[in-house]
Amino acid sequence: MELTRTLSEFSIQRKLLKAQEIGFVPTMGNLHAGHLSLIEKSLKFNQVTIISIFVNPKQFSAHEDLDKYPRTLEGDCKQIKELNESHPTKTIIVFAPESSMEIYPENFDTKISVGKITKILCGKSRPAHFDGVATVVHQLFQIVKPKTAYFGLKDYQQFKVISKMVQDLRMPIELEALPIKRNNEGLALSSRNKFLSKEDAQNALFLSKTINEVTAMIKTNGLPAAYDLINKKLNEREWDYLEILQQDNLSPPQHEQEKLIVLGALKVGSTRLIDNTLV
Ligand code: AMP
Repeated sequence: MELTRTLSEFSIQRKLLKAQEIGFVPTMGNLHAGHLSLIEKSLKFNQVTIISIFVNPKQFSAHEDLDKYPRTLEGDCKQIKELNESHPTKTIIVFAPESSMEIYPENFDTKISVGKITKILCGKSRPAHFDGVATVVHQLFQIVKPKTAYFGLKDYQQFKVISKMVQDLRMPIELEALPIKRNNEGLALSSRNKFLSKEDAQNALFLSKTINEVTAMIKTNGLPAAYDLINKKLNEREWDYLEILQQDNLSPPQHEQEKLIVLGALKVGSTRLIDNTLV
């Protein structure tokens, strides 16, 4: 595993590689089994895997947890090295910019703003969030120039936003989305789970349990019954949203034969958690 901390250091490594052998896993670090599943997949299908570790200030608004966000580069590199040891013929390059100036040089003044799909769900309570995500992912795609990039379905809306950007801007990159990794109790793994007290961690299970119940209700009793259940659940906790949408374009379902997804964002203590299930 090779660790690079500046754009110039990374670019020297990148110049030695061909695009068709590169898989890319963008992350904000504090790696857990969810991230590792993306890295494993990239290792399996690519000669070279590039992992970025960058806590992107542009996707946090002023009142959010940018300063508190866990930064654990040493531990992250240890986990990546272990993975590399079990795939000894594969190359891993970590790009962990030591400062945000490596990504956004002085006077950087461009924003990638994807349309409609960024205005719903998480975009309602975090209005600048997806512009920040699209801008950093675009910037990283330009720097890394991968063949394939790997994302988690945990951030379903984010995956849709990036897919739309890649499609609209005709970026020559394949995208893959991989299943959500959970703990034994069903809680989706997230770097933000670190902020949960023991009691919060128990309360957080309400999120995946409710999403599962709504999903089961759609299958057994249909959409009207599922909406009734949602209305009941919305009154029981502090939800940001709990919705049933079409998988394809995240618009409301027209009929029950469509491929649907149940998505929720729940406030637990001072932490906001998201989760979803494909129906
Ligand atoms: P993050 O470091 O939170 O920006 O996440 C980096 C990538 O890991 C994103 O594509 C996430 O969707 C993915 N990811 C985060 N948590 C999980 C999880 N529990 N299971 C699968 N993928 C995940």
